[in-house]
Amino acid sequence: MNPQVASEDNPYQAMQARLDLASERLGLEPNLISILRTCEREITISMPVVMDDGSVEVFEGFRVQHSTSRGPAKGGIRYALNVNRDEVRALAAWMTWKCAVVNVPFGGGKGGVVCDPFKMSKSELERVTRRYVTGIMDFIGPDRDVPAPDMGTDGQIMAWFMDTYSMHKHAYLPASVTGKPISLGGSLGRIEATGRGVMLCAREALKHLGMNPKECTTAIQGSGNVGMISALQLASTGIKVVAISDVHGGLYNEKGIDLAGLRKHMKVQRKLDGFDGGDRISNNELLELEVDILVPAATENVITSKNAAKLHARIIVEGANGPVTANADKILDDKGVFVVPDILANAGGVTVSYFEWVQDRMSFFWTQREVEERMERIMVDSFAATVDMAQRFGESNRIAAYMLGVDRVADTTRMRGIYA
Ligand code: GLU
Repeated sequence: MNPQVASEDNPYQAMQARLDLASERLGLEPNLISILRTCEREITISMPVVMDDGSVEVFEGFRVQHSTSRGPAKGGIRYALNVNRDEVRALAAWMTWKCAVVNVPFGGGKGGVVCDPFKMSKSELERVTRRYVTGIMDFIGPDRDVPAPDMGTDGQIMAWFMDTYSMHKHAYLPASVTGKPISLGGSLGRIEATGRGVMLCAREALKHLGMNPKECTTAIQGSGNVGMISALQLASTGIKVVAISDVHGGLYNEKGIDLAGLRKHMKVQRKLDGFDGGDRISNNELLELEVDILVPAATENVITSKNAAKLHARIIVEGANGPVTANADKILDDKGVFVVPDILANAGGVTVSYFEWVQDRMSFFWTQREVEERMERIMVDSFAATVDMAQRFGESNRIAAYMLGVDRVADTTRMRGIYA
């Protein structure tokens, strides 16, 4: 079965369409489905911030908690100009399913601030962040809702987040947010976690399909934390990375991209442009390359009903959240593409966020090896459970992963009952 939605570019509708299918296959009660389709709490704030030139700009911020049925809401904060409420709602719900797929005891949430972090100074970013934390303060916390980095945010922003929250509560509260610098209670292995999870999913997919990594090529859309680390991790398994991109466009080299050189270049330039290790291609051309594995690791809605038929990859591993629209699902299915869906493929990040939260609460810290081994076990088991579900129900991996996650959330929601 495959979903179809009216507004193809609306991620919240895409989430609901897939949820509806998974719920139907699970035979969930209609009352339960209506609970799971909507978000528990949505906060919108407007934040006046003094800019460096003395002017005042009013920023819009969101925090959406989709579900706290299995644990505190969990999910990142996005700083981007195109952040909007339906996007944050979808991202929050995806966090719920993601945490349930890998079976970590969290619900799902997401936040966003409408701003362009690349055009703001460090002190402006700090003021926006502290104002944002203050605005959502009463609804977050280690037992309520635990934010983390996402597009446009990083460890420094999480450090300001933790500091603002701790100052207001008059306590040292590192478990209020994850993705922090190591010295503030961050976890070893957290920065690499999402990309490493992508690699583990690609490795398991190749194993499942009987393909040899050393004979495979990959194209990666995106070169931020997820894209770049995925590229490095995939390369370490012998897979040849022939293309990579940033928002402005991509680079193609059939002999393989010099990732170490590119990384050095990007640290200084903060963009791919100017690195001459291959031919320039567009982001759309990158998606359509003849590669074995395609990793969309940038943003939503890049594989749609318009370009899905033109893709050549045998495997898609979704590093980003929501890179494939619901209307493209059927096209990929009909082509026999093996899709590792976002709620599984990029779950390595939140899995290590969970480890960070556990370590902070215990004030007892693990070695990188402990983090990596625990994470690998969770990712490998979750991959196997998803593929098993897909085979048992004759469903796509995406709907199977939804079924796995939704069933766990439905179970706790049912057991807790409706409080009235
Ligand atoms: N923003 C990441 C995601 O979409 C990480 C969330 C987290 O660690 O809480 O999965």
